[in-house]
Amino acid sequence: MNSTSDQATSIRRLHIPNIFWLSLAHALALVAVFHFSSSALWLCLGAVFVLSPLGINLGYHRLLTHRSLKTPKWLEYTLVTLGAALGGGPPLQWVAEHRLHHRYSDSVSDPHDAGRGFWYSHVGHLFFHKDFEDQQELWMSYIPDLSGDSYYRFLNRYWIAFAVLATVPLYFWGGFSYVLWIGFVRVVLMLHLTWFVNSASHLWGFESFKRPNGSKNCWWVGLLAAGEGWHNNHHAYPTSAAHGRRWWEVDSTYYMICVLERLGLAKNVQRPMKKITYLQSGTENSPLTSVFINPKPPLSVPVKAVSEIAVTSNVP
Ligand SMILES: [Zn+2]
Ligand SMILES: [Zn+2]
Repeated sequence: MNSTSDQATSIRRLHIPNIFWLSLAHALALVAVFHFSSSALWLCLGAVFVLSPLGINLGYHRLLTHRSLKTPKWLEYTLVTLGAALGGGPPLQWVAEHRLHHRYSDSVSDPHDAGRGFWYSHVGHLFFHKDFEDQQELWMSYIPDLSGDSYYRFLNRYWIAFAVLATVPLYFWGGFSYVLWIGFVRVVLMLHLTWFVNSASHLWGFESFKRPNGSKNCWWVGLLAAGEGWHNNHHAYPTSAAHGRRWWEVDSTYYMICVLERLGLAKNVQRPMKKITYLQSGTENSPLTSVFINPKPPLSVPVKAVSEIAVTSNVP
């Protein structure tokens, strides 16, 4: 395998590692019930509401995917590495998939098309394969700003090792119950909160902006997922660092960005929603898509089960 194809295969949409990881996490989260300790529970919840937003919402989503702010490179790497170590999945694949979601929201070309219902958009899509997922040039075209970064390619390939190794210190800190609760119950909660953004926030809630997709502002996802549930706002202004727009649209990820800005660690924090009035149409197809989106409609999308593709394709 030459280096070009090696690089390309590392950022196509792979299902098996993700399915393995989510299955392992759910199984061990069940075992955790028999190893309960209150300190493990509180630390688990602290990690869900502080560390996960830093790694996934801030690192993977607002910083890497949408470039809603600028940080020193060492901090960017730290946040994205935290996201990988928390079990958030391969970062380059995550970014490409999310940019694809913004481009084709709620259509057959959306990786987690909410038009196919709650369970499909929440988790079911991970168990199906679409032909466009094998179009490696397509995936590359969604991350032209990241695909040349050798550290991100490394992290994209070995993220699961980071996630497993991150549980080792937990064992020495608090024993097996810390591994289960802070390591794996936390992963399950984090995954489902992220998935609710793809499912609930495309099905239930209110719209502040007229969008051609089904994105909604879902208040309980907004609260639990550290601001990510104000998803209609986000689809209208994807590059905005703030997803909450009114004072009561609590967005703790944005508050973390404000703290970084105060500390001089974040610059160019994008705030386009500050200037707008209610029910404007938003700018989804300008700042994000003009830079990163493949202009060709790529896709014919026959859907096959992952088990079928694992047998019939050359997935490495
Ligand atoms: Zn969406
Ligand atoms: Zn987004």
